[in-house]
Amino acid sequence: MNPLSRLFSSFRPRGGVHPDGRKDLSAEPPIRILPMPEFLYVPLQQHVGAPARLSVVVGDQVLKGQLIGASGGNISAPVHAPTSGRITAIGDFPSPHPSGLPSATITIEPDGADRWIEVSLPDDPFSLSPEEISARVGAAGIVGLGGATFPSAVKLNLSRKSGISTLIINGGECEPYLTCDDRLMRERADGIVEGIRLIAYAAGAKEMLVGIEDNKPEAIAAMRKAAQGTEVQIKVVPAMYPMGWDKQMIQVLTGKEVPAEGRSAEIGVLVHNVATAWAVREAIRFGRPLVSRVVTVSGAAVTAPGNLEVPIGALAADLIKACGGLSSDPARLVLGGPMMGAQMPHLNVPMVKGSSGLLALTGKEIGLPTPAPCIRCSSCVRACPAGLLPLEMAAHIRAADLASAVGLGLKDCIGCGSCSYVCPAHIPLVHFFNYAKGELAALEKAKLRNEATKKLADTRQERMQRIVREREEAAKLRAAKKAAADAAKKAAAEAAKAAAEKTEVAA
Ligand code: SF4
Ligand code: SF4
Repeated sequence: MNPLSRLFSSFRPRGGVHPDGRKDLSAEPPIRILPMPEFLYVPLQQHVGAPARLSVVVGDQVLKGQLIGASGGNISAPVHAPTSGRITAIGDFPSPHPSGLPSATITIEPDGADRWIEVSLPDDPFSLSPEEISARVGAAGIVGLGGATFPSAVKLNLSRKSGISTLIINGGECEPYLTCDDRLMRERADGIVEGIRLIAYAAGAKEMLVGIEDNKPEAIAAMRKAAQGTEVQIKVVPAMYPMGWDKQMIQVLTGKEVPAEGRSAEIGVLVHNVATAWAVREAIRFGRPLVSRVVTVSGAAVTAPGNLEVPIGALAADLIKACGGLSSDPARLVLGGPMMGAQMPHLNVPMVKGSSGLLALTGKEIGLPTPAPCIRCSSCVRACPAGLLPLEMAAHIRAADLASAVGLGLKDCIGCGSCSYVCPAHIPLVHFFNYAKGELAALEKAKLRNEATKKLADTRQERMQRIVREREEAAKLRAAKKAAADAAKKAAAEAAKAAAEKTEVAA
């Protein structure tokens, strides 16, 4: 462990691995702005939750930052035009997903003016109430930019309600190759620190900790300088994978463990990423919705790797072109990092809010050896940051015994791939877990569907029984009324007859 880490990080991390970082490929050149592409393709679904609802039609002229898709529900986020221009198409376009399947997308032809919407700004962002800041963060379409893409305003509101005490800003960036957060901290530290203070104010957090891995000395120095005179504390943590996992960062900085299947708010902690803090500051101080982000473009197949600030909706091909094109045929295209990122079928997919990296990797970089039988060395157990038994879980999954795998903590697996990475037998353990989690999700969905169907059937049966009951009661009532009417009629007739007889006798 680096001596700096020994000095500043509080608790030893559990598990973890040290893959070749390859960060040197892209870490040194400053962030460049991507030249505006010919077209931008903005998907309506870029976040966890309901997709945004379309709020433009083909032919509309839009300004940069104008709403083009409204929030689709309680857990959702709006999307905005990344530049000024014309809406030329609305429809399916390949999504940045391993399947490459199409999703609803708005196509914009930039007009070259890049003209922003006009907004009214507060003189002092801290004069706004915490609720107003959350509302503005929500309206700006900000989501977790570390890759989770959970709507940030929802997290802020939940944190206020849960009474959190500590805000942790995750500057770990432990995935190999990625350097976008590193560059952001080196170049925009003042803005990030203001964003951190705004998030803490909106969430009601008193303590503000920023965790940065010890392999980013320039970022640490820049953030320390920017944090001077504020209550933001910069903490150095050891460089290892998956230090960027929220639960790992919380444990290292506070010594607290998030309960299995629980949320960090349950132990009074809120976690956001450094890029999210930057986006919050842009939204609150300048009224700018989230329409661009910094993306690392790297891999040995890229001619000139680096970091680009790209408008949402730019194609992966536009980014590769801006980095000098491909120097060789990539064996694999990845969106995100090599450990947890998604493999891309081609470069015709747009960058979205959660796109932290675009990698074009050569065959040498990914070398895929043939798996051998498990030698029970327990390297995977030592590497697992979640304290699981990967070899046992994989054995149960192989035997189609999902229940036992769940019993061993399958649902706590974060899919970080550390176990696969260290396995000397090259067993693709994480693929077993991802497959099993998919199966579990399908089973749970089917169970919910069956329950819903049974509930519908029960409700229908109850309704039918009620109708029959009501009909029988109505028939009984009718019969009773008729009997009463007949009796009354008979009584009246008898009374009339008796009266007539009485009259005759009197006469
Ligand atoms: S690391 Fe691989 S070989 Fe070693 S125990 Fe785990 S699964 Fe088996
Ligand atoms: S993929 Fe899952 S089981 Fe493997 S190391 Fe990561 S958390 Fe542990």
